[in-house]
Amino acid sequence: MSQLVDRLADLTGLRDRDALDLALVTAINDLLQPKTVAIYRAVGETGNERWLTTAQIKAGEPVPTADSAWSDLLALPRLAEHPLRQQAGADKQVVRSGQYPGITVFPATSNPGAIGVLEIVSQEPLSEEAHRLVTGVLRLYLNFQSLLDYGERDALTELLNRKTFDGAFYKATLAQQVAVDCAPDQRRDTSCSGSFWLAMIDIDHFKRVNDNFGHLIGDEVLLLLARLMRVSFRFHDQLYRFGGEEFVVLMRCNGEAEAAGALERLRTNTENHLFPQVGNITISIGFSEIKTGDTPSGAFERADKAVYYAKAHGRNQVCSHAALIASGALVEQAANVGDMELF
Ligand code: GH3
Ligand code: MG
Ligand code: MG
Repeated sequence: MSQLVDRLADLTGLRDRDALDLALVTAINDLLQPKTVAIYRAVGETGNERWLTTAQIKAGEPVPTADSAWSDLLALPRLAEHPLRQQAGADKQVVRSGQYPGITVFPATSNPGAIGVLEIVSQEPLSEEAHRLVTGVLRLYLNFQSLLDYGERDALTELLNRKTFDGAFYKATLAQQVAVDCAPDQRRDTSCSGSFWLAMIDIDHFKRVNDNFGHLIGDEVLLLLARLMRVSFRFHDQLYRFGGEEFVVLMRCNGEAEAAGALERLRTNTENHLFPQVGNITISIGFSEIKTGDTPSGAFERADKAVYYAKAHGRNQVCSHAALIASGALVEQAANVGDMELF
């Protein structure tokens, strides 16, 4: 009992989603000692969804593992390769294999539109008591996850809000450093390839939308733009609404051309979308590579200058900060406080 209370305390002491998933599998592993316990989430666009392992513990391997959040989608297993998980995720009901070894899959996401499961593989099918225990711990985990969502997501668009950005940014710079340190023969490994990019997206003449059609229609445009962002980027790109009509993307790409291509896709998708009542709108985008030792404010300043340039030169375009510097269109400033580590 006290072990259970300890594990629950561990679970609710966390603010980081990845750590929360690791704490859940650790708790189940300690309590039941199964062969494997893991959380899997469906990622990728409809029709080509894959299972991403967000936390897993195998018997004899006490340290939990997880797929890199920046995994290559095509390297992950398809949903249909794991039909029990697929069924539990789609029906939002517990599914058991009924044979040796016992596999029990619990739906495990607080987001009704998403698919996430907790899978327990055990020597014997789970006893009723174990089943009840897992259900109880899972309820607590899901309630806690909803609370985190409430604090971290923008209520209108459900994109991440700026509160979580700094943590994600520093995780990215750390991953960037790991990639730099990787031996050349490891670079094909997806967790070792690519660099991180920060993009700022600002709607062109959005004030006119509000002035001409009212705030409610303006809000609908923001909601629809968030949807266009979801379909334009890959599952692991992190999408934020930073307030007002400003959006931010943190993405991992192999080089500037790939980053520009993804952003260009959003720009054209937006330009070609017919927004109810409003018709067509356009966006301006500025982006910059995140460098080792960067700070959020330093990277933002570069992306912001590129947006400013796009606005001043006709809007409806994607501008790379580095390309603007290279062409002489922008002049690089000496490092200022925004670029320096203060601590
Ligand atoms: P620019 O092309 O230079 O970006 O012009 P703009 O009109 O988009 O930029 P400006 O910064 O002058 O105006 C932004 C407008 O965004 C002001 C405000 O009316 C609107 N806005 C900010 N937050 C919200 C929001 O949450 N909902 C709605 N509907 N409008 C918002
Ligand atoms: Mg703006
Ligand atoms: Mg604007």
